[in-house]
Amino acid sequence: MKKISLAIHGGAGTILKSEMSDTMEKKYLAGLKDALKQGYNHLKSGGSAIEAAQLAVCSLEDNSLFNAGKGSVFSSNGTHQMDACIMEGEKLNAGAVCGVSGIKNPITLARLVMDKSEHVLLSSKGAEEFGKLMKCKTEPADYFYDEFRFKQWDRIKGSDQFQLDHSSKKSDKFGTVGAVALDSNGNLAAATSTGGMTNKKYDRIGDSPIVGAGTYANNKTCAVSCTGSGEYFIRGVVAYDVSCLMEMKNYSLQQACEEVIQNRIKKIGGDGGLIAVDKKGNISMPFNTEGMYRASKDYLGNENIEIY
Ligand code: ASP
Repeated sequence: MKKISLAIHGGAGTILKSEMSDTMEKKYLAGLKDALKQGYNHLKSGGSAIEAAQLAVCSLEDNSLFNAGKGSVFSSNGTHQMDACIMEGEKLNAGAVCGVSGIKNPITLARLVMDKSEHVLLSSKGAEEFGKLMKCKTEPADYFYDEFRFKQWDRIKGSDQFQLDHSSKKSDKFGTVGAVALDSNGNLAAATSTGGMTNKKYDRIGDSPIVGAGTYANNKTCAVSCTGSGEYFIRGVVAYDVSCLMEMKNYSLQQACEEVIQNRIKKIGGDGGLIAVDKKGNISMPFNTEGMYRASKDYLGNENIEIY
């Protein structure tokens, strides 16, 4: 069988087994399983890595448990401002959007930016206008309303506080979803989508839509999707750093991922994790937080779904 591989994540953070009810745990695991299945089945039937990554991310975006698409957190102005990026490793094509509202699946809009525009990154109103032109599916504000997310925001709205889902002081918030895939033609792809941080101001943008920071794919090395304290992941150019260590220093996927997450990003104060797959189908999913919602399936059909 040709080597196909898929890994997905639903965010990293202070996710403690002691604070998770059995019912919630089951829901998270089911959400991950579902997204994994959608992406993997596509790869199995000979589909492309980019399509598989997009399908898996769309499934997570449609699940209100995860901080992306439907489950996006509230910004300081009470809206949802979402970021997403998709990249393929053969020609290094990429598309991304940031600060968009009302788009059902921001990752689909990012894909349209990649395929149908001459640009890489479109922002807020302009990106929405492009989405309209492309007939990208939109939803009214109440589609994105979630009581849990509203309460998260309600506790801190009007203050200067923002809530990054990865601070060690919190127990119940984590965000961002992503997928990385290797298809039967040997092509790699990565996709990441997020609602960012609760109560974010000034049109803050995180690492997720930034090529090389939160998302990167290169057939020479690997595909990477990150989750964590975005400001640090931007400064650490995390996704590209993993690829660089493999390309320039001959690190294995595992070595490169461990070095970046457990050493380099930690040194500058960054919390979080990433998922990565290399051209041989190896998968790595390191994190330096208590947990990361994650799942993977390799070419042998070995499936792995974990939280802590
Ligand atoms: N990295 C995302 C951001 O900073 C957040 C996350 O992964 O939870 O926007």
